[in-house]
Formats: sequence, structure tokens, C-alpha cells
Amino acid sequence: MLPVEVMQQAQAEFIDWQGTGRSVMELSHRSAEYIALASEAEQDLRDLLSVPDNYKVLFVQGGGRGQFSSVPMNLKGLSDKAAFLQTGSWSKGAQQEASKFLDVNVLAETQNIDGILTVPKITPDMVDQKSAYFHYCSNETVDGIEVNDIPDCGDIPLVADMSSNILSKPIDVAKFGIIYAGAQKNIGPSGLAVVIVRDDLLEFAMPETPTFLHYKTIDKFDSMYNTPPTYSWYLAGLVFKWLKQQGGLEAIAEKNAQKAALLYKCIDECDLYTNNVHGDFRSKMNVTFHLKSKELEPLFLQEAEQNGLKALKGHRIVGGMRASIYNAMPIEGVIALTEFMRDFARRNG
Ligand SMILES: *Cc1c(COP(=O)(O)O)cnc(C)c1O
Repeated sequence: MLPVEVMQQAQAEFIDWQGTGRSVMELSHRSAEYIALASEAEQDLRDLLSVPDNYKVLFVQGGGRGQFSSVPMNLKGLSDKAAFLQTGSWSKGAQQEASKFLDVNVLAETQNIDGILTVPKITPDMVDQKSAYFHYCSNETVDGIEVNDIPDCGDIPLVADMSSNILSKPIDVAKFGIIYAGAQKNIGPSGLAVVIVRDDLLEFAMPETPTFLHYKTIDKFDSMYNTPPTYSWYLAGLVFKWLKQQGGLEAIAEKNAQKAALLYKCIDECDLYTNNVHGDFRSKMNVTFHLKSKELEPLFLQEAEQNGLKALKGHRIVGGMRASIYNAMPIEGVIALTEFMRDFARRNG
């Protein structure tokens, strides 16, 4: 979802952006107007996350997966190996791509203890301090697993794929070497990714790194070495303004916690539904659940759809249901879902 206010603003100024007589899509990315818009978006993102001055904020293409390749290429100069925490399919994807460039060492994986999924704690002694970096994924959308505590990997750069929970709560950027995120979950439409990189890490790209993926070059050209996805950037900027109007990330985090708590409470209280993620790691963005009798799942989905509750089918790898409740999902949407779920459970329990 995108916030409806953002889409309304985009619609209102679609043909004539701020009296220029043109759509923002028709502006050159080299025009003064567009450059001002782009740098304002960057500043708003910096404000929201309190990004320290020694971090660069890059707006790039290629989504989250693009960074699965860009990160190892840009850090290979530090070392030929990297360490990973594997919490699900996205971290596995990042790890497989990194293994094309580096020796990948998987330190720990999500564990299934008596049917409950938990994520092991990472401590510095587990991490080879000669690694180029340590990588984890802060939110796994498929299983609905979120890592809230920032892992302590010692002195090597900490790299996080925050594609699916960036801007959902405040984070201490200073703890990270690189944070990256595809835009389409919590930032704006697809086509854009954001990379926040500590400036001392710009010097370690492997020589073969394609120029348009080279962080130092991207930074030198203010993320306009090649033409950026200008409309996605503009919409991301509107979302940043909307987040500020909502009261910033503290306020959004509170709302997100309320939304997730309502849904997990419903799942835990109704015998018909199960979720097998340990309470400490239950995602506030993607709430997954199964119906105790699998045969009812098609009926659940069909009736949900009839009630205007869409996109609840779980990822094909795990099946079941998944309610994605990113920042833009209002609490009313979650309440409507829990009311439907309780009613369905009463009728089919
Ligand atoms: C959605 C998601 C991605 C997606 O990558 P794209 O290349 O933008 O499709 C990557 N990582 C995580 C954690 C995600 O949730």
C-alpha cells in the first residue's frame, strides 16, 4: 500500500507539478527543480532516520536484490570472505549472490525448537574478524520473522537488508556499515532502492565493479551517474513527508506495534489459527498464520476477498496466510481483518 494522501497529492499534481506546467516525470533529472526535489527527499530521509553526517545516502536502481550483488562487489577490497546470519529466504538469497564474489560463512540459522522458530543471538566471538562484513536481514517477509536486536558482530562492518522494515521504527544507523532497502515495501513504488553507507566504506570496491553499481561513483554524481527512476524518487519523497507528518518513526513504530499486537492476539486467541514464530521474532510487518485445518484455507481466502480483504495468501514456499501490514496500512484495515477472522473462526471452528 501507499498512503492514500500521497497518492492524492501525486494525482493532483500529476500533469502540472508545482506550477511548472509539466509532470514531474517530464522534468530532466538535471534540471534545478528536480535536483531540489531529489535533495529534499534525501534530507527528509536523513531526518527521519537521524542519519549521521559520515554516512552517504544513495538512491539506486535494481531493488533489494541488486544490493545482494552490489554489497559484495563494493566491499571485496576489505577481505575475500563474509559472514552471514540466515533467517529465511531473503538472507539466503543475499548469501547465495555474495558467494559468487566471496567465501561465505553462515554463522547461524533460524532454528525450529519444538515447532517454534527462533533466531540465534550473534556474539562477536562467533564472527571471523577478518571478514569483509557481517550480513543479516532485519525482516523476512516469507516466514514473518523480524530481528529486532541489532546483532553485535564486533568491529567489522555490519550490513543489513532492511527492505521490508526500514522506516517502520527508529534505528541507530551508527551501528551499521551499510543499510540497504528496496523501496516497494515501506518507501514508495518499486524501481528504487536506498543505500545508506558509512563513507569510509566507499574505498573497497573490486576493480571489476560495474561503474553504475560503484558506490563511490554513485555518490560522486549525487545518485545521478545514470538517470535515476525520477518518478519513484519523487513518490518516495512524498512518503518521507507523510511519515514526518505522522510524527516521525517513533509515532509510526507505536502504530505498527499496535497493529501487529491486534493480529497476533487474534491468532493466539482463536483455536483455528496458528503462528509458529517465537514472540521475540514475530514480524510487525508480515504476520503469517496457518489454519489448523488446511482444507479451510481456500474458503478463508475466498470469503476474505469478498469482504474486501485482499492479498492474504501466504508465500508459495510456506503456504498459509500472510497479512502484510506495512506503514501505510491503517489500523482500521487490521481491525477489519481481525473481525473477519474471529467471525470465520466462530463459523468454522
Ligand atoms: C522484498 C524484499 C527484497 C526484494 O528485492 P527486489 O529486488 O527489490 O525485488 C529483498 N530483501 C528483502 C528483505 C525483501 O523483503
